Amino acid sequence: MNKRILTEALRMAIRHLPNHPAVNETWMHWSFIVVDNKIVEWGTNLRGQPPIHYAYNKKIVDVDAHCKLHSEIVAYRRAKKLLGRDLGSFEVINVRLNKQGHTKISAPCCCCAPLLKELGCTRFYYTTDAGWGKLV
Ligand SMILES: [Zn+2]
Repeated sequence: MNKRILTEALRMAIRHLPNHPAVNETWMHWSFIVVDNKIVEWGTNLRGQPPIHYAYNKKIVDVDAHCKLHSEIVAYRRAKKLLGRDLGSFEVINVRLNKQGHTKISAPCCCCAPLLKELGCTRFYYTTDAGWGKLV
């Protein structure tokens, strides 16, 4: 991954920060889908529930609790719709910011990481408190 693309994703997230749907909550995530070294689409975490076949809820023991839509899956589904096809191999950039616009850890969760890998993600890049991390 070209460092310029990571910087571009971070800039886009910072610009979008005041409009993030969870701006008054703790978790403000963005995911960017990268195909052939270009950001093709992005998404944020949202209040809705993920499709049941993605199996996010199987790790929740409280029957009244529901998993929210993670930014990775929102971005993936938008990219697939935009391109009108499966993405083939792609990379994901995760960004998490606090209200002050400082980067926070945004490694993919135990549901998103295997799911996105199965869908074709070859590598995750994610923000940390001090820069970038990588998950292969
Ligand atoms: Zn997740």
